[in-house]
Amino acid sequence: MWNEIKSNLISSRVYLKEFLLYNTVVILFILLIFENTAIIISLVLILFFLSLIFLNMIGYRRNKELEEIKSVISKIHRSDFSGSEEIKLNKYLLSLQEEIRLMFGKTKSDIEYLKRLEKMRTEFLANVSHELRTPIFAIQGYIETLLDGAIDDKKVNKYFLDKANQHTMSLSNLLNDLIDISMIESGEMRMSYRYFNVNEYISPIIQELKPIADEKNIEVIYYPARDGLQLFGDKNRLKQVFINLITNAIKYTEKGKVEILIEEEDRFGKVIVRDSGIGIREEDISRIFERFYRVDKARSRSVGGTGLGLAIVKHIVEAHGSKIVVKSTLGEGSEFSFRLKK
Ligand code: ADP
Repeated sequence: MWNEIKSNLISSRVYLKEFLLYNTVVILFILLIFENTAIIISLVLILFFLSLIFLNMIGYRRNKELEEIKSVISKIHRSDFSGSEEIKLNKYLLSLQEEIRLMFGKTKSDIEYLKRLEKMRTEFLANVSHELRTPIFAIQGYIETLLDGAIDDKKVNKYFLDKANQHTMSLSNLLNDLIDISMIESGEMRMSYRYFNVNEYISPIIQELKPIADEKNIEVIYYPARDGLQLFGDKNRLKQVFINLITNAIKYTEKGKVEILIEEEDRFGKVIVRDSGIGIREEDISRIFERFYRVDKARSRSVGGTGLGLAIVKHIVEAHGSKIVVKSTLGEGSEFSFRLKK
């Protein structure tokens, strides 16, 4: 009991100054009102004991509240709470309870965010290693076969070298896409926005991609925009967008055509890349912009895909304050579009 009183009094020390001031004022009054020394001494003694009782009560209350707060904090440490509504303090500590709940909620969501990031990082690393392994193993296999004697076999040596070369190209595509995506996601990609003449800009890109389409007998048609139409954007980064969208349209089209058009709107130019290809199922449309997501892995690899192209496209288009829209019908074709400011 004495120990408890001692601990209560120690705890109430924070109010000592106020008590001394209050007692001094009361003693001054006593001195002013009473003249009899015995009465004065008795009153001062009573005051002293009352103060001790009072300080003890305050200290007791303070200790109880501190215990309550300590217990909530250690429960948070031990992760005993699953939701902030489980945190409860007495009615005198409601404002503190609210603050602790807010802090708990924020810390919880920060931790969940970090866990998600960590999971994404691990998945990304696993994907990258897997993607790197495929072409490296293939190249290794072709080189070993050549070294084992195939190099002297005129019927197959060029074929193996061609294959090894193709895989080297996939590797180089993958590395370039990886560099781009990490630059974009780390915020290192500097954008430089300017007005550019859209017809003058797109024609050479299409010429560059025509040979790939010719190989597959696919027609690439560009419907020129109004003469002199200027759009606003980062020409270098947008080139990547156009190349990725048009090569995808060619890659995933077996027969027919790829059309590129610019629809002029009030304040925007709507860029459309349309194909008559294999199309994308409804449930895959929302996922094709995820890193490494491919509807058909084998098919994507066989046409030199990295699974990163559309993730890069999405980032760049969004950096232009725009949004990429996909419309597709399985077996009929797909349309990718986005808007650029005029
Ligand atoms: P990839 O390098 O595999 O082409 P992308 O990120 O460019 O990766 O595209 C992701 C996936 O979206 C592709 O693997 C493909 O399944 C699908 N896809 C993209 N463009 C088209 C298209 N024009 N037609 C049909 N499917 C497409």
